[in-house]
Amino acid sequence: AVEHGELRLYLQPKVALQAGVGAAAEALLRWQHPQRGLVPPMEFIPFAEQTGFVRQLTLWVFEQVAVLLAQSGARDIALRVSVNLSTRDLLDPDLSLRLGAILERYAVRAESICLEITESAIMDDPQRAEAMLNRLAQQGFRLSIDDFGTGYSSLAYLRRLPVQELKIDKSFVMGMQTAEGDALIVRSTIDLAHNLGLSVVAEGVESADILEHLRSLQCDEAQGYHISRPLPLDDYLAWQARQV
Ligand code: C2E
Ligand code: MG
Ligand code: MG
Repeated sequence: AVEHGELRLYLQPKVALQAGVGAAAEALLRWQHPQRGLVPPMEFIPFAEQTGFVRQLTLWVFEQVAVLLAQSGARDIALRVSVNLSTRDLLDPDLSLRLGAILERYAVRAESICLEITESAIMDDPQRAEAMLNRLAQQGFRLSIDDFGTGYSSLAYLRRLPVQELKIDKSFVMGMQTAEGDALIVRSTIDLAHNLGLSVVAEGVESADILEHLRSLQCDEAQGYHISRPLPLDDYLAWQARQV
């Protein structure tokens, strides 16, 4: 896929629920397969993760995002983009150097990029993960814990890690209008994050009702099909242009 140029960068908007913060999006990988069509990441990332090839995929995504940020910066558009990292990335001792080299090549600031890491990726080898997260934070990257609530991260760890953001897993967000337990988890997670000084993003926002509910709970940002599906780059830029 890499050699044949079959990877595609998709972007899904993240919107601010409280006043302030500008445009943001999450980079999501797709594979445009000649016979199978558009293959979602869950059908190839787990395998790339097993073989270690996911590192090349991450660098490909990161470079595309750097190009986008360099172009947006040239047009004076303040954009923040989130990039997903996997366990293998986090355990690569050269990760921060590799990312730093790409930033330098395109003259992009680390502050424009948020790196999303799942709880399970951190808990695979918490000490090494913590050391790498500290280096990435020092470099200026914003760090986020993805799919929060589905893993086994201890609160003691969470307090120590240099993260600025929690993303509440979509399973809780999607259930919050129908299952009281999910609504309680969402509300408690928002409070927990705020008490720890972290910003909160809800993913999987599929309806206007849920969006308003999240706003009333003081959630900071939202992402989901109700706002927009992940879009190819040009469609994303068109979507973004319509927002202002
Ligand atoms: P994730 O990082 O938690 O990304 C959010 C997933 O939720 C995306 O699935 C997105 O399309 C989906 N989503 C967003 N809004 C909604 C909604 O309202 N309802 C529902 N049902 N789903 C929604 P996607 O793009 O299929 O990606 C799945 C996972 O694959 C990602 O979960 C991430 O863990 C992984 N992934 C995607 N791109 C990359 C990448 O470049 N590198 C790595 N390491 N992992 C990636
Ligand atoms: Mg993510
Ligand atoms: Mg997620």
